[in-house]
Amino acid sequence: MPCSYSSCDNGGYDVTQEILRGLASRTPRFEGECACRGSCGGECCSRVLRYVATATYRSPEA
Ligand SMILES: [Zn+2]
Repeated sequence: MPCSYSSCDNGGYDVTQEILRGLASRTPRFEGECACRGSCGGECCSRVLRYVATATYRSPEA
């Protein structure tokens, strides 16, 4: 997921791991924060992305 800040260099968020973790634990709704790992103007961007994810799981029906 790219950084939304236009002058951010090499920025982006890595939420994949956390989302996968949430899916693995079958949490119907999970949220978190992820800091940007890019830099802008030689300084760390450190923009924080907040995300909320909802997931629907197939329940084992008899
Ligand atoms: Zn950034």
